[in-house]
Amino acid sequence: MAKNTFAVIGLGKFGRAIARKLAEKGAEVIAVDINENSVERLQEEVALCICMDATDQKALIAQNFTDCDAVVVSIGENFEALLLCTVYLQELGVKRIIARANDDHQRRILVQLGIDEILSPEGEVGLVIAEKLMHPSVVSILQLPDNYEIAEVKAPRGIKNRTLNDIKLRDKYKLNLVTIEREVTKLVKGEEVTARHIIGIPSPDTIIEETDTIVLFGTTIDIERFLEINQ
Ligand code: ADP
Repeated sequence: MAKNTFAVIGLGKFGRAIARKLAEKGAEVIAVDINENSVERLQEEVALCICMDATDQKALIAQNFTDCDAVVVSIGENFEALLLCTVYLQELGVKRIIARANDDHQRRILVQLGIDEILSPEGEVGLVIAEKLMHPSVVSILQLPDNYEIAEVKAPRGIKNRTLNDIKLRDKYKLNLVTIEREVTKLVKGEEVTARHIIGIPSPDTIIEETDTIVLFGTTIDIERFLEINQ
């Protein structure tokens, strides 16, 4: 399979993290910034680094951004530059543009431009942190549209040592249990080694164990309610 190619324009904290993650996952990443230092920081980690002004239409045309599977525009400090760059990329015919919005006003402007993939780092990161603070048992959250989420949570006290049939996640809490992560201890060369394993599709008679982490699907409110009732 051909390698995925992504460009990330604007290498502040957010853009840098995206570029790194993509490269780690094996993608071919083109990292772009106006600032030479920002570009140099990623030199060793991504396929190609380009120091250029992303609002310079000629410079944009000179690069092959149309060959990229997606271009992420993450210039957070200068919305005008982000807009200009996004419009030029649209004019070039870039297949998939993902742009960053710092607030609702910026999001609305981007939607008007026809950009439907919008990232709000502050919002998304803030939401996960807020949820983790409220409920320390939350390990990770994948936020979905319409206030739905998939949450990985340490099994709350109230459901431990009970069967799924007895807990009635669906009927009582409007939640679906996706799976369970369970600690398994094995003897390896005479030493006890503990690792987490997915138990697959749980059945009604599966019992929740003391150190289980459960993966739930439901609305944010229903997940919070479930955690509060059973904490
Ligand atoms: P964060 O909040 O993620 O740290 P910033 O908004 O501070 O992000 O960083 C934005 C990055 O975009 C900076 O590295 C800056 O040099 C870069 N940048 C700003 N204007 C342009 C431009 N016209 N072309 C390319 N990169 C730019």
